[in-house]
Amino acid sequence: MEQSLIDEADRCVQCGLCLPHCPTYNLSLSEAESPRGRIALIRAMASGALSISKSLNAHLSRCLGCRACEAVCPSEVNYGGLLDNGRAWMRQHPTGKIKNDGLTSFLIHTFTKPNRLQFLGRWLARYQGSALQGMVRTSKILGHGKLRGLEEDLPSVPTQSPLQQDYPTPGLSRGTVGLFTGCASSLFGRDVIVAAIYVLNRCGYSVHIPQDQTCCGALHQHYGEPQIARRHCESNIAAFSKPGVDAIISLASGCGATLSEYGTLATQKGSAKSFVNKHYDISDFLNHISWPKGVQCAPLKETVAIHEPCTMRNVLRCEQAPYQLLKRIPELEIKPLEQNDQCCGAAGLYNVIHPQLAASLGAQKREHLSTSGATVLVTSNIGCAMQLGAVIRKTSLNIRVAHPIELVAQQLGKGRDTKNEGHL
Ligand code: SF4
Ligand code: SF4
Repeated sequence: MEQSLIDEADRCVQCGLCLPHCPTYNLSLSEAESPRGRIALIRAMASGALSISKSLNAHLSRCLGCRACEAVCPSEVNYGGLLDNGRAWMRQHPTGKIKNDGLTSFLIHTFTKPNRLQFLGRWLARYQGSALQGMVRTSKILGHGKLRGLEEDLPSVPTQSPLQQDYPTPGLSRGTVGLFTGCASSLFGRDVIVAAIYVLNRCGYSVHIPQDQTCCGALHQHYGEPQIARRHCESNIAAFSKPGVDAIISLASGCGATLSEYGTLATQKGSAKSFVNKHYDISDFLNHISWPKGVQCAPLKETVAIHEPCTMRNVLRCEQAPYQLLKRIPELEIKPLEQNDQCCGAAGLYNVIHPQLAASLGAQKREHLSTSGATVLVTSNIGCAMQLGAVIRKTSLNIRVAHPIELVAQQLGKGRDTKNEGHL
């Protein structure tokens, strides 16, 4: 792997065009916190010129993995791949000096295992609905560190019944889609999943939710465990290979970005290619199909600010899809959130691992939200929704956070449509 890291790093001509686009460089104005600096560090590490150290790890760890640098690089440096492989190389090096910390490991290995996640979900729903939460907060038992921040920032977790495997369309069938539900999304974004099933069914698509699907692998891939990421990738390719699945739909752009790169991750390139060719973000899919006559959104007189997740802009490259989809709602005023090219600070587990840096990035979004005039903030990624929701809860801003599919479902009648949603 050393030589491939060096070869990729050597594609960087050190022009510096990426620096103004890098959130960590903008915060620190330090070369070592810039894409160019990190590429040089990875090259030096792989060539043996620099030994593995906690300081080197810190520079790579503070990278958001937002890939804003990659999107503007004229030399087309595969920065995302370089970072993932550099982190993996460091963690797997025989010196064994660098490991994920306890909280990070716990979260990765809980969120990516369905049984543990379901247990956590049930426990959180009870905890948040009881007097225990108030007692824990007033007792200060969690201290002032990362655990306390994590507890305070968690959105409420509803009590959840298991999802069915199949949701046939009540109308004339136009096809079947496989729905990728994700880990954090299935815990914190259940309303988004139900909204997606409702809209897809209304558009004539039956929804198949493979029960043996698993985590997309993003957390393992980005935190130095590519072998585990590959296992998840291959399990998902098998789970969605059922005949008759016309398209594979993801709801969270963080998961979608990883699914879209299964061609690189998988060992079986043929089946990975077929998976990737069928994969769409939900907004993108709904923009590609023709909608049945009579399926029309009711008007909504609100102002929506759209947050463009980095994974939507820099990996999936379909950040315009939610704008196009929401144009189906008459009278809705749609505007981009200012500085959408800068990460909100969610970035996987970044807001847990680097809470202060994430808070600085979140504060920038808060400023833009406060001048946006919006009553709804729309984002297509569950991690961004949680980060921005936590930012908003700490202010007096009266803005709710929604996925674009939730707004579309609401304006199609979900919640008062006994004819079409009885099965949900
Ligand atoms: S834009 Fe590309 S080539 Fe230029 S410094 Fe950044 S990574 Fe290197
Ligand atoms: S991925 Fe984002 S944070 Fe990391 S170097 Fe590139 S622009 Fe900066």
